Amino acid sequence: MTLKEMDQSYVLQTYARNYVHFVRGENSILFDADGNDYVDFGSGIAVCSVGHANPRLAEAICDQARRLIHVSNLYLIEPQARLARRLAELSGYDVRTFFANSGAEANEGAIKMARKYGEVEGEVKRYKIITLEHSFHGRTITALKATGQEAMHNYFGPFPDGFVYARDIPHIYDLIDDHTVAVMIELVQGEGGVQPMEKEAVQRLAEELKQRDILLIVDEVQTGIYRTGEVLASNLYGITPDIITLAKGLGGGVPIGAIMTTHKEILKTGEHGSTFGGNFLSTRAALEVLEILEEHKESGALDHMLLLFEGRLKRIAESYANLFEKEVGVGFMRGLRVKEGKEAQQIIDAAFKERVVVLKAGKNTVRFLPVLTMTKEEMELGFERFERALDRL
Ligand code: PLP
Repeated sequence: MTLKEMDQSYVLQTYARNYVHFVRGENSILFDADGNDYVDFGSGIAVCSVGHANPRLAEAICDQARRLIHVSNLYLIEPQARLARRLAELSGYDVRTFFANSGAEANEGAIKMARKYGEVEGEVKRYKIITLEHSFHGRTITALKATGQEAMHNYFGPFPDGFVYARDIPHIYDLIDDHTVAVMIELVQGEGGVQPMEKEAVQRLAEELKQRDILLIVDEVQTGIYRTGEVLASNLYGITPDIITLAKGLGGGVPIGAIMTTHKEILKTGEHGSTFGGNFLSTRAALEVLEILEEHKESGALDHMLLLFEGRLKRIAESYANLFEKEVGVGFMRGLRVKEGKEAQQIIDAAFKERVVVLKAGKNTVRFLPVLTMTKEEMELGFERFERALDRL
């Protein structure tokens, strides 16, 4: 039985898998079982923030595994406390953090926090949460309902009540009523097609919500942890949300989710929990990830590469105006909007044949989520191959 046959026989077939068999990696480069190298502009969908097989992360994980992986949240967990403090220090927000295991789970916790807030603050029970069309908040039942893409709701109802979808930020104001407790947004929609929100509109929204005692939840599962060039996209946008959720890049590939909140007392003992959340292994990994990325940012290397990458993508959008409308995105969360009549998937497949990994977002965007520690040589090699693929189309 081949590996592909084994996968198809025994793994639930929920993914449109590409049957390449990667066996190892080095920063932005992946190697398949035949020794072929691929330039990875996808980083496992914004997860491998410090690159593949980062030696410092590997060492931290091994060191921690040799000591303790897990004791449960019934006891003190040193790296968990340190990580919570680091997240507060680096973001500059006066917050406490709860640790979960994924983005969807972090968002579930954020929704629970908002529901609790709506129960205890104010005269009527407030429970409504406004999210945006084209958003993506995860696959669990409530996170899926929070996701403003009706097509994804097929088959899985009935859902929890209280989610409404705004077309855009101005439309949020029209949907607010006495039962509204929170607004939940991504500052740059990722899965929805690499769509940054307008900064002034977000700042005005944050202010208006504060005045009306409505919580602002920012889903930074994809934008968080230097993906946009700053520790959090909320820093870039100059806002202080009530709740921020994180996952993806935080553990550099080790599963971890986090909910940061300025409402430090909102959930009391026994009101939320997770068996695995914040265990020794994942929080030690995340601490190392933060240290690596902070150094990378402080040295100027991250900002330098962001500029080069943006410039290079802009040039590609111009040179291949037959295929692309424009370049979109922020930091290392970028896309090329594909022209009407052209297929993003065809471009992604052609790039893969040239051994460069790019992703799809929304209906018509070729998405780039490189590892944050990408070198100039890796970037050049990736774009050389990408252009070769475009020349063939
Ligand atoms: N929120 C956002 C903005 C995401 O991009 C994703 C995943 O793509 C999620 C939530 C769900 O995260 P997870 O797959 O870890 O549950």
